[in-house]
Amino acid sequence: MDTQAFWTWWQQLKSYGSNSDGSLSRLAFTDSDMASRRWLQQLWTQYGARTTIDPIGNVIGVCGCAPYLLISSHTDSVPHGGHYDGIIGVLGATWVLQQWRPQWGGLMVIDWSSEESSRFGISTLGSRLACGQPTVDWNRRDNEGVTLGDAVQKAFGGSQNSWQLPADKISASLELHIEQGGLLADADRPLAVVTAIAAPQRWALTISGEANHSGSTLMAHRHDALSAAARLVEAIEEESRHLEPSGLHATVTDLHVAPGSANVIPNEARLLLDIRAQSSRVLTGLTDKFPLWASQLATSRGVHLEAEPISQEQPGQLDADLQTQIAEQIELEGLPVHAVASWPSHDSLPLSRKVPAGMIFVRNLSRVSHQPGELVASTDIDRGLEVLYRSAQRISSGFHGNTGTR
Ligand SMILES: [Zn+2]
Repeated sequence: MDTQAFWTWWQQLKSYGSNSDGSLSRLAFTDSDMASRRWLQQLWTQYGARTTIDPIGNVIGVCGCAPYLLISSHTDSVPHGGHYDGIIGVLGATWVLQQWRPQWGGLMVIDWSSEESSRFGISTLGSRLACGQPTVDWNRRDNEGVTLGDAVQKAFGGSQNSWQLPADKISASLELHIEQGGLLADADRPLAVVTAIAAPQRWALTISGEANHSGSTLMAHRHDALSAAARLVEAIEEESRHLEPSGLHATVTDLHVAPGSANVIPNEARLLLDIRAQSSRVLTGLTDKFPLWASQLATSRGVHLEAEPISQEQPGQLDADLQTQIAEQIELEGLPVHAVASWPSHDSLPLSRKVPAGMIFVRNLSRVSHQPGELVASTDIDRGLEVLYRSAQRISSGFHGNTGTR
């Protein structure tokens, strides 16, 4: 099918927030984010959707009557990001909307607000609020000291009451997204069906020892929090390597030592642990180790370990039936079916807790994302659009074997 319209919109959308070096800085609630969302709303209205922008900046377009098939992603970016992350999903939804026929049922398209956590440290904000998930700290500040509450107020003039997803009126949710690593490029597969989305879990680990003179204290008498932390970092890395094949990455991302004096044995080490697990089972495989590590450190180093959860999002499994249907459409494209789990989080994670959700990944030739070098072949995107369109049409109309207007 002709994807020319998609590429025209892609060029037009580039004009909102592009930098002179070709990178994209369309951060949530900035002028370019607001302007591009208004542009998108107009476009969707032009294609017959009833549109609105909710108080948090989610752009919502609706065609026909419930039940709706939902197609969504995000157009906000990280600072100096690429032009594919999220964008192909929203413009893919637009491309499906342009060709949608009333007899296929209702269609809902959404550009979720503030998917990226770059500005306020909160990811998938718009979709999580719409799915009724945890309350947000509106007093969080960006690097310029602007609070999230003020930024939202200024950008979309609204209150903190975002639109709520009518889950009982949604038959299924689909998202087309680039893969943000190199799994597909390594496997030489243009498309993949996504099976699960790893959730970021963060833990604060605190090791308490005893401060003492670094010269006079005998080695046997030390309770050194930093050297215990070194042991712990190593143990976590080892465990992550061991659990990687079952779908887990654990990283110690930060370390603070007190008192931080040249001649004092550290009495405290505070570590930040980031865990990405594709299933709750493998996640507990790591967190169940905390008591063991605590007792080992107590015995060998005379220190105390405490682990406190900061965020405890659970991984999401994508709908099995949707996976099958997407896989069939990939096959109809003449491509081998490849299935992967997503390490990064997406708007489809909160959605998967409310409605059956499915995702299609497009190969990322650059193997990198969140930077301007992000590179995806237009032929791969065209195939992704085709699979999205045909999956949407088939899932919505429920006519198995009807492959659309191709
Ligand atoms: Zn994204």
